[in-house]
Amino acid sequence: MRTLQDLFEHEIKDLYSAEKQMLEALPKMVKATSDKKLQKAFSDHLEETKKQFDAVHSICDELDINPTSTKCKAMEGLIKECDGMIKEDAVADVKDAGLIACAQRIEHYEISGYGTAVRFAKELGHNTIARKLQDILNQEYNADNLLDKIAENRVNEKAMS
Ligand code: FE
Ligand code: FE
Ligand code: FE
Ligand code: ZN
Repeated sequence: MRTLQDLFEHEIKDLYSAEKQMLEALPKMVKATSDKKLQKAFSDHLEETKKQFDAVHSICDELDINPTSTKCKAMEGLIKECDGMIKEDAVADVKDAGLIACAQRIEHYEISGYGTAVRFAKELGHNTIARKLQDILNQEYNADNLLDKIAENRVNEKAMS
């Protein structure tokens, strides 16, 4: 790895692997919750993730890189924690709080990954790619904010009951 371009390509491969892993993880998260709002948040983000995966795939094609040799170990670990929470013998409400916590860790990881990738793309003059990455970054921010709201509502509802 000699240039910023090399490092940028490494980051893109990592993001490709991260999204790919999320395509398998999100359906399990949808099934693990009984809360309708949380279920919708996860399934909507799954649809978004499919498009994100396609977008990163097309960026790989544009850059003429093969992403299949890289595995994002951080996402692998975050998903393992999430799987642990899914298997946990917990009261529904508590499990939902745990699933939100796992999901937000994942969104924060993606936010930092895409934030870096956008910066590198701009610095390298890949302006169209930078815009595509920025669109995904915004979606990850929105997903995280929605989870914040669901978590807050959960606490408010509990306080009122
Ligand atoms: Fe994503
Ligand atoms: Fe990674
Ligand atoms: Fe995401
Ligand atoms: Zn957040």
